Amino acid sequence: MDYWVRFMNRFPTVEALAKATEDEVLLLWQGLGYYSRARNLHHAAKQIVQLGHFPNTHETISTLKGVGTYTAAAIASIAFNIPVAVVDGNVYRVLARFFGIDTPINSTEGKKQFAALAQSLLPQHEPARYNEAIMDFGALQCLPVKGETSKLNNKTGKANKCNHVSDLAPAFCNSCPLNSQCVAFAQGLVRSLPVKTKLVTPKKRQMSYLYIRYGGDVAIRKRPAGDIWQGLWEPLLFQDEVIEDNKGEKKHSKRAKNSVKQFPSSQLLTYLDLLAEGQLDNPSAPSSPSKRGIQNATSPTIIGNFAFKHVLTHRIIKAQFVVMETVVKPSLPAEYIWVAENSLSHYAIPRLFELFLEKLNEPIKT
Ligand code: SF4
Repeated sequence: MDYWVRFMNRFPTVEALAKATEDEVLLLWQGLGYYSRARNLHHAAKQIVQLGHFPNTHETISTLKGVGTYTAAAIASIAFNIPVAVVDGNVYRVLARFFGIDTPINSTEGKKQFAALAQSLLPQHEPARYNEAIMDFGALQCLPVKGETSKLNNKTGKANKCNHVSDLAPAFCNSCPLNSQCVAFAQGLVRSLPVKTKLVTPKKRQMSYLYIRYGGDVAIRKRPAGDIWQGLWEPLLFQDEVIEDNKGEKKHSKRAKNSVKQFPSSQLLTYLDLLAEGQLDNPSAPSSPSKRGIQNATSPTIIGNFAFKHVLTHRIIKAQFVVMETVVKPSLPAEYIWVAENSLSHYAIPRLFELFLEKLNEPIKT
């Protein structure tokens, strides 16, 4: 809540948000969840300012960045009384059970079928009240059931049925004003509906960082577009690879074995060689015979190695941060810059980097 108040105090109007830089918006968004939402909100604010007012048709509301099908329908119906049906998780559950529909709600066919059904039920004169009522009915009466079946029966291709309807129907159905017309209640399907197809297995990724300290500064870069944490800052990334894809298949198993389980990894050793040779700005440069065994007063020193497992919606990230101090200023790859270590709080950073800094700055237990 405090984070939200801080954000709203800084950007009290859509104009204030539209005028801000992305760096400023991302920095103030820290603690408020997915950064893509902050970027979308910022972009949408600019769209609204350019338009001169908040869009007031379903089509124009849908063009706002970050506004998907559900949000557009909710804004259009509740704010402008436009007759567009909302379909959120609660609505899917109510419709699937009441009509006994076992089309998976996360399939393309299911989405179309439920959207059309919801739209056909919507009273044109009172879309806001109806939409709010059906969402509330799902949230308060037609509740999810713990452990409810989410797969179709392999043999029949239909949702699994319970044999003893009255025994197995959840208690909330007994007090439901719609139970006399509800297909799922009559047929013992309440615990089996709605149906979802198997969810995608998260992708596993190994990301290894070199946190280089030089004269009170550290090397960071802003993450590029087209990947997670776009626009956020991170230390020098020396290894980034998918070690298991969405289908659960192992990738680069040999390379991953060498680099993930062994420390220092081969990628890190290559980086350290390049650093010693002043070639860090050109990581593809051929390395001369390794100088790793030769330590002298100017050799970089590794002073810490931290490992984390960070779980995101569709990814599991195994991360490693190697902390290194050097008295010789390394030349960095082009996109990296030096910033004062004590000014890192002025940069928007991913939660993973934040976790590392918390660990790094933890007081040493005696
Ligand atoms: S009877 Fe049960 S499953 Fe059917 S609508 Fe009511 S609460 Fe939902």
